[in-house]
Amino acid sequence: MMTDAFIGLGSNLKEPAAQLARAVSALATLPETVLVAQSPFYASRPVGPQDQPDFVNGAVWLSTSLLPHQLLDELQSIEQKHGRERLRHWGPRTLDLDILLFGDQVLDDERLTVPHRELPNRDFALQPLLDLKADLALPDGTAIAELRSQCPDNGLRKLPPADYP
Ligand code: ATP
Ligand code: CA
Ligand code: CA
Repeated sequence: MMTDAFIGLGSNLKEPAAQLARAVSALATLPETVLVAQSPFYASRPVGPQDQPDFVNGAVWLSTSLLPHQLLDELQSIEQKHGRERLRHWGPRTLDLDILLFGDQVLDDERLTVPHRELPNRDFALQPLLDLKADLALPDGTAIAELRSQCPDNGLRKLPPADYP
């Protein structure tokens, strides 16, 4: 069975937009998985410590027959291949891939919380989801558009396509 999974991408080190573009290519070649669409990229102020570069964020829509934890394994493998470095919690990193939504599944264990725990508070995750699918909703029926309208402002700026590598 194929499930629609929505992945959030972020980077704020080493040419972030290029990191994201490479990550999208890697996601497109995952086993048992099809890339349905990718969102525009956005620049946003960092969460947490402010003495670090702005982030570039985006999201992709996958259709996959991988199980959620298998998908997480694949995302973490892509992060490692991209030389993910991180010195502190919520500090700068070359690539971060989060499962935002996995169909209408609700999961909460040591490795995986889906929908992503912080999604309602993050315009840089909500806005790309809306770009991908305007009527997207949480498993409980809450519209992503509704969350977006109530979300704190992180100074989101859409990057023109020319800024993509
Ligand atoms: P945040 O969760 O606030 O976005 P982060 O992305 O910086 O923080 P990481 O260090 O990348 O956090 O991930 C820590 C752990 O979070 C991962 O090892 C993973 O097991 C777990 N995790 C829980 N839920 C998810 C999810 N939905 N997507 C990705 N990782 C998740
Ligand atoms: Ca994250
Ligand atoms: Ca993460």
